[in-house]
Amino acid sequence: LISSLKTRGGQDMGAIRNKKFLNTSRTSATITEQRQSLPICKLKQSLVETIGKCRVLVVIGETGSGKTTQITQYLVESGFANRGKIACTQPRRMAAMSVAKRVSEEFGCKLGTKVGYSIRFEDCTSSETIIKYMTDGMLLREALVDRDLNAYSVIILDEAHERNIHTDVLFGLLKSTLEHRKDLHLIVTSATLEAEKFSAYFNDCPIFTIPGRNYHVEVFFTQEPEADYLEATLDTVTQIHLTEPPGDILVFLTGQEEIDTTCQILNERMAALGDVVPPLLVLPVYSAQPSEVQSRIFDPAPEGSRKCVVATNIAEASLTINGIYYVVDPGFAKIKAFNPKLGMDTLIVSSISQASAKQRAGRAGRTGPGKCFRLYTESAFKNEMLPSTVPEIQRTNLANTVLSLKAMGINDLFGFDFMDRPPTQSLVNAMETLYALGSLDDEGLLTQLGRKMSEFPLEPQLSKMLLTAVDLECVDETITIVAMLSVPSVFYRPRDKQGIADQKRARFHQIEGDHLTLLNVYETWKAHKFSNSWCYDNFIQSRSMKRAQDVRTQLLSIIERHNFEIKSSRGDYGRVRKAITAGFFAHAARKDPKEGYRTLVDNHQIYIHPSSALFNRAPEWVVYHELVLTTKEYMREVCAVEPHWLVDVAPHFYKKIDPDQLKSMRKNKKIEPLFNRYEDKNAWRLTRRKG
Ligand code: ADP
Ligand code: MG
Repeated sequence: LISSLKTRGGQDMGAIRNKKFLNTSRTSATITEQRQSLPICKLKQSLVETIGKCRVLVVIGETGSGKTTQITQYLVESGFANRGKIACTQPRRMAAMSVAKRVSEEFGCKLGTKVGYSIRFEDCTSSETIIKYMTDGMLLREALVDRDLNAYSVIILDEAHERNIHTDVLFGLLKSTLEHRKDLHLIVTSATLEAEKFSAYFNDCPIFTIPGRNYHVEVFFTQEPEADYLEATLDTVTQIHLTEPPGDILVFLTGQEEIDTTCQILNERMAALGDVVPPLLVLPVYSAQPSEVQSRIFDPAPEGSRKCVVATNIAEASLTINGIYYVVDPGFAKIKAFNPKLGMDTLIVSSISQASAKQRAGRAGRTGPGKCFRLYTESAFKNEMLPSTVPEIQRTNLANTVLSLKAMGINDLFGFDFMDRPPTQSLVNAMETLYALGSLDDEGLLTQLGRKMSEFPLEPQLSKMLLTAVDLECVDETITIVAMLSVPSVFYRPRDKQGIADQKRARFHQIEGDHLTLLNVYETWKAHKFSNSWCYDNFIQSRSMKRAQDVRTQLLSIIERHNFEIKSSRGDYGRVRKAITAGFFAHAARKDPKEGYRTLVDNHQIYIHPSSALFNRAPEWVVYHELVLTTKEYMREVCAVEPHWLVDVAPHFYKKIDPDQLKSMRKNKKIEPLFNRYEDKNAWRLTRRKG
């Protein structure tokens, strides 16, 4: 493969060289020396002065120049924290945690005291906290309680070029907050040249540039498109390790599973090569990792070995790993996108943008001249990749965002000052979803239910499910299910023990479906005193279980704030299933006598996932939590339901068709083909209400 990689000038990359590997670990500098060597350090004085003079400032600088870790500390040193906290938002949970940890070390305090972080379901701050790293979603939640964010003196919207949906909403909110909070300063930071656009949006505010210190990066493209980018990635990493001079490697892949598999294969390949090659230290990086593993990625590789970091997009700009000389870029990332056919967001692997590709390449040039191996052709780069990524607000479901805005009293969404307007149709769809859930009334105003829903850090479907469970007196069980649905999968299925893992999992299965199976797992764990060894014996991820326990506690505290009683269904799980239906009625499907299921909303063909408790049972009517697209469109977390529940819980959405009406609908061919197949007179027939 390497020999098929050509430089832009067309020259071959050269034959395998017999290089002796040298010590790659650099002498470790003290934290103070490291801080002083950052490009931002020389500009400290003028940066702080400029911030003091402007209400809004856009700061651009290469990734790794010190924006995220240093600006907050400079502000504290200059007294900005005397008037309120300093917030710094991150689009990713893991970045917020990792950066806060680093800054607490630089600042010389325990994490969670003066420096802390706040991410969904995890608040690591205290009354002492003056520097607060947080996800942009959390700052938005705080704006729900205090629209003016009075607790803060400076807000840094970091990594703004990511154009995360929450950052985009914060742009609009803060722009108006600045008009009446004259003491608030806003800093918007970006790694790319979108800075002009940010400045224009904030009434042509000044732009502060931190000059980069980037070395030249030689870029290689493949001559032909790669049929299998994972295979190509493995080959390229192996070749770099065998033929290139010292320097660490950074590989960009799309997600946890892919990363784990790649790391495993790389380790196997290196082991097979034996002692003839120097050691390659392979390190995975993705957000669902425990923090001990996360901090290891920053340590220099041991003497005589090379480090290979295999990361998601998080390493594109949010995290800077020193010592990278080689970047392997297959050109893909997982992004959230609204699937109009299914009416929901799905994660899809898609081509990155040219801007992302440039950013990825840049990671190789921080320590010295580097190389970037792109596993796609130059023509694909030029002709198939978009110049920049479409902002999330223009491609995802807006139900949650609309609910938050409404709860902040912003009713005229079409008049909201978005930097880039979401498509009108997405706003309309979101309002329809919220109307069907009962959170908006006929006039599009927030209902009491909607207000309560907005207080939960959950998708509206899940908060509706919880609040219905309060009414149906089964919140004790439902809250566990919501918590279990909010964490990474609790079932552990290692590649070499899939059979036994599946057997163990099947023992938890409940005939009513996966939601109750999750409840069963949690209850059994609880009966075993939340034991780790029980998890281990049953192929359950103890880390996910502990998280679910934390999430449960947090949700419980919100429920208790409302003085709702925490009642149990006492074994009447029908009520729990009805509560699930109240949130997820739009995800209802009916068995298709030929194969699989058909969605009630648009008669789309879908299937029960083979790992589901209902895979063999296949009940007539189900609701599902989400869809995943692999070889087919699979429902994940499926629950058997009674069809009349759908009409009970969503009278705005479904109606029962009476037999006469059915006849005329058939005649006029107004009815979906699915319904023609059922001739049972007493069978339930449902149709989606229109208009
Ligand atoms: P920017 O925000 O401009 O991209 P950062 O402030 O994130 O830059 O990074 C500045 C420096 O701090 C980088 O050299 C980076 O490697 C280092 N750094 C950040 N987090 C850690 C960490 N957890 N451990 C060690 N070094 C870190
Ligand atoms: Mg940063």
